[in-house]
Amino acid sequence: MKPIPYFEFRDFPAGSETAVQAALVEAVAGKHYILGKQLLAFEEAYASYIGAAAAIGVGNGYDALVLALKGVGVGPGDEVVLPAHTFIATINAVLQVGATPVLVEPDEGTCNITAATTAKAITAKTKAILPVHLYGQVCEMEPLLQLAKKHHLKIVEDAAQAHGATYEGQKAGMFGHASAFSFYPTKNLGALGDAGAVVTNDAAVADFVRMYRNYGEVQKYQSELVGVNSRLDELQAAVLRVKLYYLDSLNAARQKLAAVYLQELQGLDDLMLPVTAPYCSHVYHIFSIRTKQRDALQQQLQEQGIRTAIHYPIPVHLQPAYKFLRYSVGDFPVTEEISKTSLSLPLFPGLQLEEQERVVKTIKHFFR
Ligand SMILES: *Cc1c(COP(=O)(O)O)cnc(C)c1O
Repeated sequence: MKPIPYFEFRDFPAGSETAVQAALVEAVAGKHYILGKQLLAFEEAYASYIGAAAAIGVGNGYDALVLALKGVGVGPGDEVVLPAHTFIATINAVLQVGATPVLVEPDEGTCNITAATTAKAITAKTKAILPVHLYGQVCEMEPLLQLAKKHHLKIVEDAAQAHGATYEGQKAGMFGHASAFSFYPTKNLGALGDAGAVVTNDAAVADFVRMYRNYGEVQKYQSELVGVNSRLDELQAAVLRVKLYYLDSLNAARQKLAAVYLQELQGLDDLMLPVTAPYCSHVYHIFSIRTKQRDALQQQLQEQGIRTAIHYPIPVHLQPAYKFLRYSVGDFPVTEEISKTSLSLPLFPGLQLEEQERVVKTIKHFFR
């Protein structure tokens, strides 16, 4: 039997690969590879897609987080509240700007942080909340925005998994003072290499990020601040512009596949399916299910040639690298439970229904 990959790049929608290749050829022919018209065109198109005033292309999603945090003024001495259940880049970015990360639990259903879990961690030193729209679902933003307002806090969204996802009809990236996107190849909107963007409605933040990503230059060889080099190059921008054109259909394909899983996998023993909160849409960057028998299920799928993934097997607070934060086992029971029980199923644009049927059948057989 042919193996079913967890993720694979396929020509979906058919012909999109050729369109990407044509854009690359055109960008190469342009002979201007850094901070040129491809980047400007993508930045404008992405800002307009999100509905925001500005998008600034940067080197990757991690840099986007760092620059967004710096852009809203987070630095040494500040505390930033973020989820314990997230990809490592989120906490790394907080440490990179010299701030102190304060972890909080996600909601058991959505796996996203909420105003209730966040409120407990706010102190006099808190400067910002860093919600992560995990798996492709926007956090319930209204209560978080109110909480931020009440305590005069900044919000920086980690939207690296949520391109095009909405809350009350507005897209991820529109709620915070600044937002970070990753265009890592496997993300819902992916480049052919590393890329990222900061999105903001605040002109001062946009100006800062534009300068900071390019050695602090306001114009060639005139630096207003000590910046870094984190530019999004022309070739990636050209690719992203084409892929952006397809983003809604890529997300729709993911949602269609998710609907099949949600329909077919109901009521199987302790199996828990992804929960979408009211007013939120989900773009299923990751389709994560939960069961106490996770390891055995993963093994059985593997034996049938079906690859899966775990997001994330070791929670941030139990990673060897972050021992110095002095968290220990039991500090975040919900996060720890998710890390032990969750399993991400194959779900990507171009996954065939027959393949998905095999995944469903194998899971149903496992629980019988
Ligand atoms: C992918 C990802 C990032 C980092 O993006 P890179 O482009 O790989 O640096 C940050 N946060 C989350 C939640 C992610 O999934």
